[in-house]
Amino acid sequence: MKLRIEGLETGYGKAQVLFGMDLEVREGELVALLGANGAGKTTLLRTISGLIRPWRGRILWDGRDLGGLSPAKRARLGLGHVPEGRQLFPLMTVEENLRLGAAFLAPGRDKEGFERVYALFPRLAERRRQLAGTLSGGEQQMLAIARALMGFPRILLVDEPSLGLAPRLAEEVLRTLNRVAEEGVGILLVEQNVALSLEVAVRAYVVEHGRIVLHGPARAVLEDPRIREAYLSL
Ligand code: ATP
Repeated sequence: MKLRIEGLETGYGKAQVLFGMDLEVREGELVALLGANGAGKTTLLRTISGLIRPWRGRILWDGRDLGGLSPAKRARLGLGHVPEGRQLFPLMTVEENLRLGAAFLAPGRDKEGFERVYALFPRLAERRRQLAGTLSGGEQQMLAIARALMGFPRILLVDEPSLGLAPRLAEEVLRTLNRVAEEGVGILLVEQNVALSLEVAVRAYVVEHGRIVLHGPARAVLEDPRIREAYLSL
């Protein structure tokens, strides 16, 4: 199973943001998407999910062109998205937020989903009756990821999960994503924390002004002098 992006271009109004992006994510691999603010990372994730219409190019799901499919249909195929800013329902409990992530599954399948996410995130299990809005920042990010996992995605898009988190929590979130990938889910991870994401990812793409300027094994990207200078201040 793989998600493949070919020559993707899009933008807002007349302003072009993505200029011919090519990228691939396979089941079971964690792939980092790195780049400065405004490079177009969020725009790419939203276009893959079907929230933004591409101007040109293709989004292929195991060879099938997703063009024209609604975001809901893409989710049913197994495409998950953890949006920037988490988008939880603060006045609903942890469990109610999770149930929403399973809304389109066959009845009964949510039981399996709850078991899986509570095993991955024991802290959420302890707090299942707590209102989402009263969770700590780290717990809310875990809940946003867990909610997406309730839909049994095969490929998961994750937008800046460490935003606003203390370093130790950021590390915990990324290590959890690593475990999710080990369970067989493909993850496309947008992250500002370049050093940490290159530690957990197998491959990485670097975006500048809507173009992929570098890609390869995470280790090679980490050792690239341009990356060390621009993102790691080394
Ligand atoms: P960040 O890390 O800051 O979130 P990013 O790489 O995710 O950055 P995008 O959010 O994809 O970047 O934004 C890419 C460009 O598109 C930016 O110049 C931004 O101002 C512009 N843009 C994003 N959303 C919109 C919108 N709804 N309308 C107009 N322009 C937008």
